[in-house]
Amino acid sequence: MSNQTGITLALSKGRIFEETLPLLAAAGIVPTDDPEKSRKLIIGTNRPDVRIVIVRATDAPTYVQYGAADMGIAGKDVLIEHGGAGLYQPLDLKIACCRMSVAVQAGFDYAAAVKRGARLRIATKYIQTAREHFAAKGVHVDLIKLYGSMELAPLVGLADAIVDLVSTGGTLKANNLVEVEDIMPISSRLIVNQASMKTKHAQLQPILEAFEAAVEATA
Ligand code: ATP
Ligand code: MG
Repeated sequence: MSNQTGITLALSKGRIFEETLPLLAAAGIVPTDDPEKSRKLIIGTNRPDVRIVIVRATDAPTYVQYGAADMGIAGKDVLIEHGGAGLYQPLDLKIACCRMSVAVQAGFDYAAAVKRGARLRIATKYIQTAREHFAAKGVHVDLIKLYGSMELAPLVGLADAIVDLVSTGGTLKANNLVEVEDIMPISSRLIVNQASMKTKHAQLQPILEAFEAAVEATA
């Protein structure tokens, strides 16, 4: 692609960028701009052969899949929805940790609805995850795709339940929702383009090893 010899890393702004900085530092990589302050989408680093592209969190796997970035970082939630085609996922970085949960409005008897075999309306950004979760439980669902503010859906009668990420539970609580199922723990993973792993192995391997050592040191 456009960066034949160097390494391009796809990162999203916000928590993933912030929590990746120490890992980059462990690999001797320091970005030359702060994406929260700069409007640049391509950010240099102290290393002439390493650059960072700023992408939407959901898009990181796509950039890496097509080789527009050699590596990137994406949440397990995002990787499940993407499907993982064309990607290696060599390392759980144990950053941006939270959990995927089912939540309902306080007072809705979720267990009873499931027990009587009711068809449930589920609003979520995570269609794939939700589909697999309810299929495995044998619960019939109608899935409604949303792009944000999932917490609103049960409150206005759009859905019986939501599937969403929860960390502290503060947002659920503030909106009178309760968590009724913990689907899976979520953290972010390093993703690597499968072709780059071979053609740029000499450049990628030291970065991978530094990340791995840094993750182990904080565990
Ligand atoms: P945007 O906020 O731009 O709509 P997004 O929500 O996908 O996009 P982030 O909020 O930066 O992007 O989240 C990136 C990743 O961080 C998610 O894919 C998930 O793995 C993780 N994450 C999301 N919410 C939390 C949270 N509350 N606590 C910890 N990790 C989280
Ligand atoms: Mg977000």
